Amino acid sequence: MSVVQTEIDRFLGSSAVPLYVGGSWTPARGGAAFEVRQPADGSVLAVVASGDGADIDDAVTAATRAFPEWAGRSANERATLLHRYADAIEASAEVLANLESLDVGKPVKDATGFDVPFAAKAFRYFADLSVNVRRSQPLPVEHIEARQVQVPYGPCGFIFPWNFPFLLYAWGVAPALAAGNTVVVKPAELTPLSTLYACHLAAQVGIPAGVVNVVPGLGRTAGAALSQHSGIRRMSFTGSPEVGRAVAQEAARNLVPCKLELGGKGAAVIFDDVDVGDTARKLAGAITLNTGQVCCTATRWFVHQNVLDELVSEASKALSEISIGPGDDEATTMGPLVSETQRQRVLGYVDKGISTGATALLEGGAVRPEGHEGGYYVRPMLLAGGPDNVCAKEEIFGPVAYVIPFRDEQTVIGSVNSSRYGLANSVWSGDLDRANRVAERLEAGNSWINAHNVFAYGLPYGGVNLSGYGGGVNSPETLFDYLRHQTIARPLS
Ligand code: NAD
Repeated sequence: MSVVQTEIDRFLGSSAVPLYVGGSWTPARGGAAFEVRQPADGSVLAVVASGDGADIDDAVTAATRAFPEWAGRSANERATLLHRYADAIEASAEVLANLESLDVGKPVKDATGFDVPFAAKAFRYFADLSVNVRRSQPLPVEHIEARQVQVPYGPCGFIFPWNFPFLLYAWGVAPALAAGNTVVVKPAELTPLSTLYACHLAAQVGIPAGVVNVVPGLGRTAGAALSQHSGIRRMSFTGSPEVGRAVAQEAARNLVPCKLELGGKGAAVIFDDVDVGDTARKLAGAITLNTGQVCCTATRWFVHQNVLDELVSEASKALSEISIGPGDDEATTMGPLVSETQRQRVLGYVDKGISTGATALLEGGAVRPEGHEGGYYVRPMLLAGGPDNVCAKEEIFGPVAYVIPFRDEQTVIGSVNSSRYGLANSVWSGDLDRANRVAERLEAGNSWINAHNVFAYGLPYGGVNLSGYGGGVNSPETLFDYLRHQTIARPLS
C-alpha cells in the first residue's frame, strides 16, 4: 500500500471522522454520523460525524474565544502562519488530491494540477495582501482629529457546496483569516473530507485552537444552525440560489451581513472568425471540467450560423474522445458525477428538455464503465433547440451544453442577457474590438475573451442577479469584505 493511501486510511479511521472544534477532534454531541460515498463506484468511503445546533454553538463559542488573540496579532504574524499553512498544503498535496478525487470523483491529475496548488496559493495571496493593507486612514475633517480604522468582524460563518470543496474552502477562509477573523465552516455533506484534513494541517502548523472550526453536517441542521447563529458576525455562503436566499434571510434576522456566491448558466458567444477546431476543443474541455459541475461553465453555446455545423461537428468529436472513468485512473479525463441524485438530476433535465422540443446533437446518457458499474457516470451531451427550453434556462450542473445559432451581434447580446443568472460568459472572436465590446455588454460578474473558466488571484470573481449577492472572491476587495470600518474622532476643542 502506498504512503498516501496509508495516510488517507489513517485519517478516515475505523470510526466516524470527528468534528474539529476549538482545536480538538470531537464526536458530534448528538452522536449522529453520515456516510460519504465514492462517486467512482458508489461504495462507502467514510463515515463522518454529523454536527447539529449544539455543535455549531460550541464552534461559535470557540471562535469567539479565539478571536481577540488572533485579531490582536500583527498582520505579519498571521501572514507567516498562513504561509506555513500553504507550505503544509503543498507538502500534503498528494494526500489532499487523492482524498479530493475519492470524495468528489474528479481525476487525481486535475486535483493535483489545479484544486490543491491553487488553494495553497489563496493563502499566500491573502497573506501577502494583508500585510500591505493600510489599516488606518487619516480623515480630512474640520476641527476634528479623525481617522478610520479597519478591523476584523469576529467569528465568520461559511457554508460550502460539494463541487470544489478544498478550493472553495481556501477561497473563503483565506481572506477572512488574513484579515484577523476566526471561522466556523460547514462543508457540504457529500464532500467534507479535504476540509477536515485541512484542520489537521492547521493544527500541525500552529494555527491557534478555535481560529478554524469545521462542523460537517446536514444543511437543514448544521447549515441552518450556523446561518441562524447570533454569535456570527459575518456570513458567507456558496451554493444554489434557493439555499442562498434562505441563508441570507436567516442572517438578516440577526442583522448579520451575508455574501452569497451562487449558481450560473454561463454562455459562450462564438463568432464566425474564430479557429473553429480550437474553440470547439476548448469549449468541450470547459463543459467536461469537473464533469460539468462548475458554476460558471459554458452551458449555453451561442454559435454564429456560418460556423454552426463545423463547430458542432468538432465539439462532438472532442467530446466523444473524452475518457470516462474513475479519478485514480491516469487515462481518465472526466470522472463521475458526485452522487446518484446528481446523476438523476442531470438525466432528468435532459429527458425533460428533449420531451419539450430539444434535440440531441450528441447523445449522452448514463454509462457504466466496466469494473465501476456502481459509479455515477454520464457521457457528455450536446442539445439544441429554442431559447425557452428548460435545458437552455436552468442550471443542469453536468457535462451538457445547449447550442443556439445566431446571426447578429445585437440579438445575441439580448439572448445571453435573457438569463436570470449572471455569473460568467465568454466571447470568442478574432476581432478583439468586437470581443471587448460584446464582453462589456453581457450582464454578469465576469466576461472572458477567447477562453472560458479563467481564474487568477487579483482577478475579481463574483456574480450578479441570481448568481451572487454582495460578494465576490479572489481579489483585494475580498480581503476588505472581512474588515469593517471604525471611525476614531477627537474634537480639537
Ligand atoms: P446547495 O445550495 O444545495 O448546498 C450548499 C450548502 O448549503 C451545503 O453545504 C448544504 O449542506 C447547505 N445547506 C443546504 N440547506 C441548507 C439550509 N437550509 N441552511 C443552511 N445551509 C444549507 O448547493 P450544492 O448542491 O452543494 O452546490 C451546487 C450549487 O453551488 C450550484 O448552484 C453551483 O452553481 C453553486 N456554486 C457556486 C459557486 C460560485 O462561486 N458562485 C461555486 C461553486 C458552486
